[in-house]
Formats: sequence, structure tokens, C-alpha cells
Amino acid sequence: MSSENPARPPADAPASTAPPADAPVRDRSGGDASTSATAATIASAADPASTAPAPDAAIAPAPDAAIAPDAAAAAAAAANAPPTPTVTPPPTQTIFAKGDKVSAFAAFDSTRKHADVLEVRRPAGFDPTTGDPAKISYYVRYDGFDKRLDAWVSGDKLWPAATRTKGSGVDLVGGGSSGVDGKGNAGAGLTDGVTPDGAEGDLSGAGGATRKMTRTLKRRYNEINNVGVATEDLTALDQKLEHEHDERTKVKNIGIVECGKYEVDAWYFSPYPEEYQHCDRLYVCEHCLKYMRKERTLLKHKARCAASHPPGKRIYEHPRKAEGKPTVSFWEIDGAGDGKVYCQNLCLLAKLFLDHKTLYYDVSPFLFYVMTEEDETTGKHSVVGYFSKEKWSVEDYNLACILTLPPYQRRGYGSFLIAMSYELSSREEKLGTPERPLSDLGQVSYRSFWSKRILEVLQRAKGNLSVKDISAETSFKEMDIVSSLQSLNLLKYWKGQHIISATPKIIEEHLKTFTRKNAIEINPDLMRWTPPVFAPPPNPRKGGANRQ
Ligand SMILES: [Zn+2]
Repeated sequence: MSSENPARPPADAPASTAPPADAPVRDRSGGDASTSATAATIASAADPASTAPAPDAAIAPAPDAAIAPDAAAAAAAAANAPPTPTVTPPPTQTIFAKGDKVSAFAAFDSTRKHADVLEVRRPAGFDPTTGDPAKISYYVRYDGFDKRLDAWVSGDKLWPAATRTKGSGVDLVGGGSSGVDGKGNAGAGLTDGVTPDGAEGDLSGAGGATRKMTRTLKRRYNEINNVGVATEDLTALDQKLEHEHDERTKVKNIGIVECGKYEVDAWYFSPYPEEYQHCDRLYVCEHCLKYMRKERTLLKHKARCAASHPPGKRIYEHPRKAEGKPTVSFWEIDGAGDGKVYCQNLCLLAKLFLDHKTLYYDVSPFLFYVMTEEDETTGKHSVVGYFSKEKWSVEDYNLACILTLPPYQRRGYGSFLIAMSYELSSREEKLGTPERPLSDLGQVSYRSFWSKRILEVLQRAKGNLSVKDISAETSFKEMDIVSSLQSLNLLKYWKGQHIISATPKIIEEHLKTFTRKNAIEINPDLMRWTPPVFAPPPNPRKGGANRQ
């Protein structure tokens, strides 16, 4: 009964909260998917290419002389004046092995970068002594870049590695405002338009100088930016588990996902059942999230698919016709109820765009808040993003995972999802915080969301406000307010106390940097929700939903 997408036993893996960002998206209807929306600063800051550290200057293109093994052949080739190739062929056709350090062509910015070979694919019957090395494919990870940019590269776009800086994933290349943590994640506080404070300023480097981040500084930077703990800071057991997770999930198993009118490149591995693994293309029904391997199966399915919206209760409906935009709705789905298979399918789909996420099949302890856009002509609702939330959180987590599907990014939906998580916390009369670690892109969104809300509260306030006052008004936990104020450089330490120090002019200046053209605000009058009550589980899990 593979057609029913049967549930599998829970898979495990380490944690994470998710990323609104952009990715190559093709609109199959011919519309303009990724460029139509106004470029939100959040999203552009989260652009993998723009937030990634500057490419290592040590990788220079191979000198022309080294291109052709035979100088006469080179001269002959030059005489015919062929167009300059975009990619310089390697000087010698080396055959590389798993674990080799190489210099590889990166399609995302058309440059060569240091990379590690994670996997090798040889054509069937390949003879290493006579076969053409260019026919071998290598799965590479680029130094200092997020895993979602890992790619298969053919042998003619790979070179033996030049000498490279030790620990280049940790070194910071100065210039501009991009920072990077020990895991190669782009720094959030430095990319969201906020003036960094002294410590962050040091980390961003300057004038092209390359600096090594000390462990202490790095930890401080990670704390300020809510970055997850770097692998080397984990206990031996955690390191082992992290390594196993990496081994298991290092190669993306799905190439492209077709969902509704969009097709989009998958970013990460997702544990779909065996028969769906290693699909170049996976077809997903945008209404019930059932997944299929063949287009004709999808067409047959769509002819009889009765789902017009996610299962569960609609808790919010926001018409946006006046703005020329589709109505958006939120649906609350209990992972233990009738919507269980839908939630499992949603988690599998989401995993394609989230690096660390443990939750795929054991969805019962969670509620899912799924956001949809409504098609005006058919009245059907397509999923655009979601967040999950533990029914019972020991640590006041108000969000476990969050994702805006790539075709719908840059529309203000990431911040809208975050806002909804706090709207629910506020109605529960609780303070909330997202589960850690945040993904690199999740950090950027949260940092920007917190900062904007805090600045608005400060702007409205007539008298002095304490961190506690802001917490009461926003439902943000105090630690998130303190770290945001620090990144805005609005917190001073005076006589043993933290003092918020901001003039109306400074607040206004900061607020300008957070103003988004396409922002959507929650209208509390449109909420139809009362907090559901669940009895605490017999053994509440510590450490949140996504920990091992
Ligand atoms: Zn369907």
C-alpha cells in the first residue's frame, strides 16, 4: 500500500528550528515566483549567497598555462579562438576519493571554492585506468557554506586543493557585514541591518583582514545570536550522534519537488520511505501533501483528491483582496488526531528545507499551525508554511519547527508565522521562546522580528520601560529581549543593572531598517481560537521536541 504513504517508525536526528529564505524556485505556470515579491530585507539577508562568507581568496582560477597539458594543442586551440570557457578545465584529470579536499566549481556563484568530497558516483563499468575522469560525479560540501549548497559536481569541474587555511570554516573573512559561526552559518546580528555592538564588530572583521575567532569570542557571538552549539563544544556522546546524523543525511536524496504549480530544488535529505528515496523528482499534492514518484500518479490522484484545505480547525482567516493578494488562513491540527498522516507528510516535506529536524513520524505530542493561501477561483487552500508546537513544553517553547516553503518566501510570511506563535502565547497568558538551536535563516528572521516589536513598544512608551515591561507586552522571554537590545546596542550596564538607553530619534532610525513593504500584521479580531488544554504527559520530555 505504498500509495497511502504509510507511516514509518520514528526516525531520530538532532534538532532545529527552521528557515525562511530563498532558493531557486521555478513557477511551472510561467509566473514569476521568486522575483515577484518585493525583496524583504529579511529574505535578502538570508540569501545563501549573500550571507555566506566571502569566498576564500586563496582559490585563484588556474593559470591559463596549466590548462592544456600540451602547449601545441593549446596554441592550436587558441588559434581557433574558442569562446572563453566559464569553467577552466582542470590541469590534470585527477580521480578523487571520498574525504579528499578539493577545489570545486560552485554553480551558485560561478566561482571555485575549497570543498570536501562526501560521495563519489562512477558510471557503471567505469575503468579507472582508461575511463574519462570527467564522467565521475562528486558530491561536495563547500567550505564555510551551508549544507543546502552541497551539490553533485562532474569530474571536469574539480581540481586538487590548493593550500588552504586551517579551520577555514571558523576564520572570518572581513569586508562588509557578513559573519560566520563555527559551523559555517552566516551570522544574523550582523546581517539584519542592526549596528553591531563592540563584540560583534570585532567578529565581523574589517578591511579584508582575516581573523581567527577565539573559542570564547565565538561562544559569546553564538549566545548573542542564538546560534546552536558548535560541534566541538558538544559532549563526546553528542558529537558522536551529530556525526552519525551527518553521515546518514549527508547526501540529498530528492532532487526536485513538484508541489502545486511550483517546482523547487530540495535543500537537504529527508527520510521518505525507501521506495521514494533517491528520486530526481518527487510529486506532492499541495492539498493533502501525499507524495508520489510519477507524474501520472499525481494526475490520477488529483482527479479524485477531496482535500480542499488542511485537516483541522480554521483559527484565522485574513482576506487580502484589497491588497490584490490571496486570503491567508491558519489551521490548527492535532498530531494525535485525524490529521496525523497529513502532519507526517508535512514534516517529511519540511525536512527537505530544514537541516536539523528530528520530528517526522512521531507527531502526536504536537500541534501544527498550518498557513495556507486560498485560490479564489477554486476555493482550495494550498500550504505555504507552518510551525509546530509541543502540546506540553517544560521549557516554555512556543514553537518547535517553522518553515515557509521556498516558493512562498519573501512575502512576509516568515515573520507572520512567528507573530502567530506569539499571538497564541499571549492568549495563553504565557511567555514563549522558540526551541533552540535556530537555523541560520531562522535566526535572521527571529532577530529581525524581536527587534522590530521591541522598538515599536519603546516608541509607544511614554515613560521608562524595563525588560520585564516589554516582556509583558510582547510575550517574549526576557533573555530574547536582552539579546535583541544588545544587538541593537540599546542596553547599558549601569550600577549593577541593565538600563535600556534609547532616544526617540535612535528608535526611529532603527525602526526604519526593519520596515518591510510586504509585512503582514495579525488582526486579532480575525482570530477564532481558545487555547486547547492538554493534560501533562506522564514523562514530559526535557530539552524540547528536537533533541535526541
Ligand atoms: Zn491530494
